[in-house]
Amino acid sequence: MIGRAGDESESGESAAARQGRRGFLKASAAAAAGAGLFTVGSAAPSAAQEGGGDRPPKDTGRPGRRYLIRGGAVMSMDPDVGDFETADVLVEGKKIVDVRPGIRAAGADVIDARGRIVVPGFADTHHHQFETALRGTLADAVLFDDHSGSPSAVPNYADFVLTRMAPAYRPQDVYINVLFSGLTQLDAGITTVHDTSQIHHSPEHSDASVQALVDSGRRSVLQYTAGDARPESRFPEDAHRLRNRWFSSDDQLVGMAMGGEFYAGGEESWSRAWKIGRQLGLQITAHVVSGSGVGPVVDDFAQGTAGIDKDLGAGDDTLFIHMTGVSDMAWRRFRDAGVQVSAAFPIEMAMRHGTPPILKMQELGMEPSLSSDVETTMAPDPFTLMRSAFTMQRMLVNQMILEQGDFMPPDHWPTPAEGTPDLLTVRDVLRFATLNGAKHLRLDHKSGSLTPGKEADIVLLDATAPHVTPLNNVPGAVVSLMDRSNVETVIVAGKVRKWRGRLLDVDLHRLSGELEASRDHLFKTVGVKRDLFGPS
Ligand SMILES: [Zn+2]
Repeated sequence: MIGRAGDESESGESAAARQGRRGFLKASAAAAAGAGLFTVGSAAPSAAQEGGGDRPPKDTGRPGRRYLIRGGAVMSMDPDVGDFETADVLVEGKKIVDVRPGIRAAGADVIDARGRIVVPGFADTHHHQFETALRGTLADAVLFDDHSGSPSAVPNYADFVLTRMAPAYRPQDVYINVLFSGLTQLDAGITTVHDTSQIHHSPEHSDASVQALVDSGRRSVLQYTAGDARPESRFPEDAHRLRNRWFSSDDQLVGMAMGGEFYAGGEESWSRAWKIGRQLGLQITAHVVSGSGVGPVVDDFAQGTAGIDKDLGAGDDTLFIHMTGVSDMAWRRFRDAGVQVSAAFPIEMAMRHGTPPILKMQELGMEPSLSSDVETTMAPDPFTLMRSAFTMQRMLVNQMILEQGDFMPPDHWPTPAEGTPDLLTVRDVLRFATLNGAKHLRLDHKSGSLTPGKEADIVLLDATAPHVTPLNNVPGAVVSLMDRSNVETVIVAGKVRKWRGRLLDVDLHRLSGELEASRDHLFKTVGVKRDLFGPS
């Protein structure tokens, strides 16, 4: 599907996964959406197509293939490797071999990174990829109906997406939505994702989800979670089959987490999900949102007394999303237990999830990873995520400091009192968006920083662009000046996926047609008419 026949073994897929892909492509209607999307056998567009007159190194990501990313400003996000005004990154096969100035690598191809910032690929630790065809439908919406009748309540997220739209998804809708989202987020430099998919209505829906993640060719963790609870869903027991069919090896790009969502399916169902997830050694992930009434359950999880047998607790295998409205007791216990937190700053602020708990996390010595959540309501690029976290936290702390004075000289600009939270820095939020994302998905042994021995998930950002030049500060330029137009080259596990501004081996035009057809099916099925200027 991507690249050449034979790529699968080098991409680390297991035999079972390869077999699963073949079976899926034969058996499913999604094959029609998937087949022939990519230019098999053509690793690079023509020079005229990609516009740079320059091609990427051949066969990147294959065993033994070496190339040197030469002369960029390198921000490794690994304190032991450090930052370099100018350095080289040597990649061999899937892995980073060396990061330092002046590497000599006889026979290696060279990627000229002069004028570029070289950073680890970004990670999004919570993204509902199946919703791509619904982009922008809920730009004004809040999470639930507050019965105000306002444009933010009608339509609202829970009714429109979960109650109305989600049940209309067929496996082929899941496939094209997840694939398209994956590719377009890869285009923005996000090389790792946790797909909180919520669309496992049946085993066929689950297989379509995984197939799309595999075909998008980025590092992905599938959250297997409840769909609309139709009789054929087999949630959560189908986890055993999924694990065997798709995830029998850890040496592959796509992995699995168990959805332990408390809002879905009732206590009996989610209790089984947590237990099966732990039997299978899976990470367990779940939303915790103040407005969804889960506070008492969250407290039970903090005390190890949750679920039908009153024996479930959260631990270092647990990733909670949002974490708004959580009691101080639960926060402290989760911190001590090693629970990780994914914060979707822009969505939490726009959709009434509650205030992103960044100050509580700072107080406890914790750090979040960042997540995009839903494209129905906000762009999922890393720059939106980083700048939202940065500005939101600084708004709170700056106002706190101003109010420590009396707004009049000589106390109009007070020195922050002891105990005032530190202002987040651009370096902090860059760490949230890279290394923390990998850590929170238990992937930091493979990705998240430019560290020799890790797999090469690398982004080259163009610092010569008119809205960035002259380059005076690397993390400042990335976080406060850049946008997705600066994402020039994207590499996943050594393989160049975007080159000089263009995704390789992907026909996005054709895929967008498939996505529109999916949108048309969904709208027709639920009786929604597209209204380009109506309430969203
Ligand atoms: Zn979510």
